[in-house]
Amino acid sequence: MASPVWHPFTQHGLEEAIPQVVSAEGALLHLADGRTLIDGISSWWVTTHGHCEPRIAAAIARQAATLDQLIFAGYTHGPAEEVAQGLIDLAPRAPSQPTLAHVFYSDSGSTAVEVALKMALGYWHNRGEPDRHRILVLQRSYHGDTIGAMSVGERGVYNAAWSPLLFDVGTIPFPAPGSEQTCLDALEAACAQKPAAFIVEPLILGAGGMLVYPAHVLREMAAICRRHGVLFIADEVMTGWGRTGTLFACEQAGVVPDIMAVAKGITGGAIPLAATLATGPIFDAHRSTDRAKLFYHSSSYTANAIACAAAAANIAIWCEEDVLGRIAALTAGIASRLADLARHPAYANPRQLGAIAAIDLVAPDAGYLSDLAPRLRAFFLEKGLLLRPLGNTIYLMPPYCLDAGQLDAIFAALHAAGDRYGTQA
Ligand SMILES: *Cc1c(COP(=O)(O)O)cnc(C)c1O
Repeated sequence: MASPVWHPFTQHGLEEAIPQVVSAEGALLHLADGRTLIDGISSWWVTTHGHCEPRIAAAIARQAATLDQLIFAGYTHGPAEEVAQGLIDLAPRAPSQPTLAHVFYSDSGSTAVEVALKMALGYWHNRGEPDRHRILVLQRSYHGDTIGAMSVGERGVYNAAWSPLLFDVGTIPFPAPGSEQTCLDALEAACAQKPAAFIVEPLILGAGGMLVYPAHVLREMAAICRRHGVLFIADEVMTGWGRTGTLFACEQAGVVPDIMAVAKGITGGAIPLAATLATGPIFDAHRSTDRAKLFYHSSSYTANAIACAAAAANIAIWCEEDVLGRIAALTAGIASRLADLARHPAYANPRQLGAIAAIDLVAPDAGYLSDLAPRLRAFFLEKGLLLRPLGNTIYLMPPYCLDAGQLDAIFAALHAAGDRYGTQA
């Protein structure tokens, strides 16, 4: 009988295989049919250290038997306090910039973004400037799949059905090589119109196609916003937790955002949790003796204690182990193999930022809706790899425990995919 499960981003009408996974460890997934896959994309960008990381798994088991869940309005618990302090200690900081000092919990990257947008508008509303509600966004961005998060993301086939519900935003052109100044000039002009905030994915646009832009552009974006008093929101949901080579991408630009969203790797990828960090002024705009000014947002599982315990274990790993050293070694291993792959005539536009790498397959029909990506997905599955290309862009975002042999296996499959599906120059 057909499964009743309705999968995300899956066209069930195509009846593509949906493998069942029974267990995982490190960079490996074990399938019900006995095969093993290398997880080349960290199970959709969440698994950082590796699957079933023992310290995180133990913390979850301990917490599940101690305190599982607690109403978080008017109550608190140790894991939430510990993680909040840990996030504040690890957050980007820079001389003479306000520090991120307050942590609001939620449960996914999309809700962390919704919370960030609500904080920004709440800030202006509570300060008596309710007309400042327009949000500026970067072209080709992705910030999640809820209505607000879709509104600030790129419009396309993936959200066309809901376009009547999406709110209007100001779109700043992507700072592609050679048009960085065009982007910055557009931001400057848009900021002069007194919008509420500018939201960006720092240094690399993920779902938009793994598009990178330089740190000096990010620094200049933040400076323009500061000059105009426009709130600067960094969506570090994908870039956080070491992906770009530093704990957070903003560090590379010396930028401290007014509001920062984190999720995905916050628990090492074991269990859902998200947080939105804010500076003193954002919090203070909601702090009052007037109940009407409190921050009206909650979800049932806000700061779930088990998820917070997992995040505390993840933060302990970051503080006690040489995670950045592991990422640097992985980054170097990817770089040499990517340089070799870039010589393949079917590949173009190689790019890498930390342990994230992407390259475009030059193929006859390479549009987002073409069947190239699903065919590549099936090809990689056959080769023992979990990879999920974005159109004709093949990217890697592996867990940091990936070893050299596993990297070799991935790149051998990428060469084979180029031979089989690419247009030879
Ligand atoms: C994945 C992602 C989100 C959404 O996170 P979910 O946990 O899937 O809701 C938001 N922003 C960016 C940059 C992302 O990559």
